[in-house]
Amino acid sequence: MKNNDELRLHGLGVSPGIAIARLKIRLSGATDVPRYLIQDGDTEMEWSRLCIAVAAAKHELQRLIAKAASMPPAASEEICSILEVQLQMLGGSRLMRGVENRIKNQRQNAALALFEETAALITAFNAMADRYLASRAEDVRGLTRRVLRLLIETGNAHAAAENNDESSTPHILISDILTPGDTAALDTLKVRGFVTESGGADSHTAILARSMDMPAVLAVPDLLARCDDDDETIIDGNNGIVILRPSAATLAHYQKVSAQKLADKAALMQLRLLPSLTHDGVRIKLKCNIELPREVPLAVSSNCDGIGLLRTEFLYLNAGRLPDSETQFQHLASIVEAMEQKPVTIRTLDLGGEKLLNLSHGDEDAAEWQHQAAANPLLGLRAIRLCLAYPELFKAQLKAILRVAALGNVNILLPMVSQIGEVVATRRLLAECADDLRASGYVVPDRLPPLGVMIEIPAAALIADELAKYADFFAIGTNDLTMYTLAVDRADEQMVDYYQPGHPAIWQLIDLTVQAAAKRGINVSVCGEVAADPEVVENLLRRGIRELSVTPPSLGLVKQQIRRVSLRAENKTA
Ligand code: PEP
Ligand code: MG
Repeated sequence: MKNNDELRLHGLGVSPGIAIARLKIRLSGATDVPRYLIQDGDTEMEWSRLCIAVAAAKHELQRLIAKAASMPPAASEEICSILEVQLQMLGGSRLMRGVENRIKNQRQNAALALFEETAALITAFNAMADRYLASRAEDVRGLTRRVLRLLIETGNAHAAAENNDESSTPHILISDILTPGDTAALDTLKVRGFVTESGGADSHTAILARSMDMPAVLAVPDLLARCDDDDETIIDGNNGIVILRPSAATLAHYQKVSAQKLADKAALMQLRLLPSLTHDGVRIKLKCNIELPREVPLAVSSNCDGIGLLRTEFLYLNAGRLPDSETQFQHLASIVEAMEQKPVTIRTLDLGGEKLLNLSHGDEDAAEWQHQAAANPLLGLRAIRLCLAYPELFKAQLKAILRVAALGNVNILLPMVSQIGEVVATRRLLAECADDLRASGYVVPDRLPPLGVMIEIPAAALIADELAKYADFFAIGTNDLTMYTLAVDRADEQMVDYYQPGHPAIWQLIDLTVQAAAKRGINVSVCGEVAADPEVVENLLRRGIRELSVTPPSLGLVKQQIRRVSLRAENKTA
């Protein structure tokens, strides 16, 4: 039972900090149709937006009809008749007239107008108790889902709802689940922090929350049943606590804690100008992991040694379609140029697994692989496997990277490598792309960028000796290495106790990798989340790691820890 008493809930504190605000509930799925009204002068523009989505839906339906034509006759007839009815409904039907009226006369936004007109139409069909019309109700629903998806072009209901909600004051977001795409699209000016019912500590959603410096608690059981929109809420991201309807005393306490945390953060910021040296003077390279363009300014001002991991998939998770090579080039160029001549390690697409695209139209290949990977995405066509299976997809990215290599200091990093053949095949594609680009008049450096591999599958660590002959550097991804070694889904809240990056098996694989890199004289870094754990930093350094890459907000804490460690002497200095 909900009442006005203070209630403490516990979950996984995945991103530190205190957030205090009223909450807003946004569920994934149907309730995410944005409910705002538009201005009087914007009705024509909103109607055009709907017409564009309708045109795209017609195009999709026509393509599906053409595909269905090659099916066995009975199936083809059945499917085509449904699709053709849907196609007709997109013409001058009652549905479309109703939607137009709602947009132009009632000033509803296009998604809301379509959603409500559909509901009204279905109610009318049902009232007629006619079996034929009842079956049409399903067709209308299916059609509406298609147009809504196209209309909310980002494919991201949370973001669309948040970003269109002009009246929205800063709040804490409460949801059943936030995908990495939802999280990447959150407006940091409006969302102070978030709490969900599901998710794991090193899920991409959790990593994004840390990168965005947004307090977050995941995996809070029964969360939605305990809160109401507008409840005053406190998130304690350090301790995984969510307090609903806090008492005046609790509120005062957390306001104090919050002020202290801000002061601590400011003090850590001061460290950024100091060199990244251990107490006894060993130089440790400290780089940033970047996922979103909005993180770049913090990385630039952090005085870091470069970008150790530029995840490229997040730029496109909500784009609705795969970006072309030119778009990718523009994005990458802005980051590489901002970093001036500091090294930027660009990881090639790590799509698949948790990171699926919200595709709208025109990407049949991508839609196909997502479908193929669906049976077991984490063990399927993910990352380098996907890129090699769809060379055109891969080449578009490799060409963009080769072009930015002419603008700065670029390295290329391959995710999820498990075999030498993947490195060899990529080198071949890179050479082909460089030839194509030069033939088209683009500038590509004579020496192609160094090509490294992520060590994040146990097999890669076990063959690190061999891999080191083919790769120019290693980057240890402890997040996936933990998941694949321990057979534990990193995003599954039920598996939290089994997800142990500090498991002895992981340390053995790290040791093998460091030894293989040393033998071959190639660089090895750690860019998984453990690199940002102050309690683990010393152990990593003692095992021979000399380069760490962490989210920009955690840089200060890691540097503080590095500066406390003495590697040559046995004793740690406080
Ligand atoms: C990792 O797996 O440790 C890693 C750094 O990559 P990601 O978290 O993007 O999978
Ligand atoms: Mg990984």
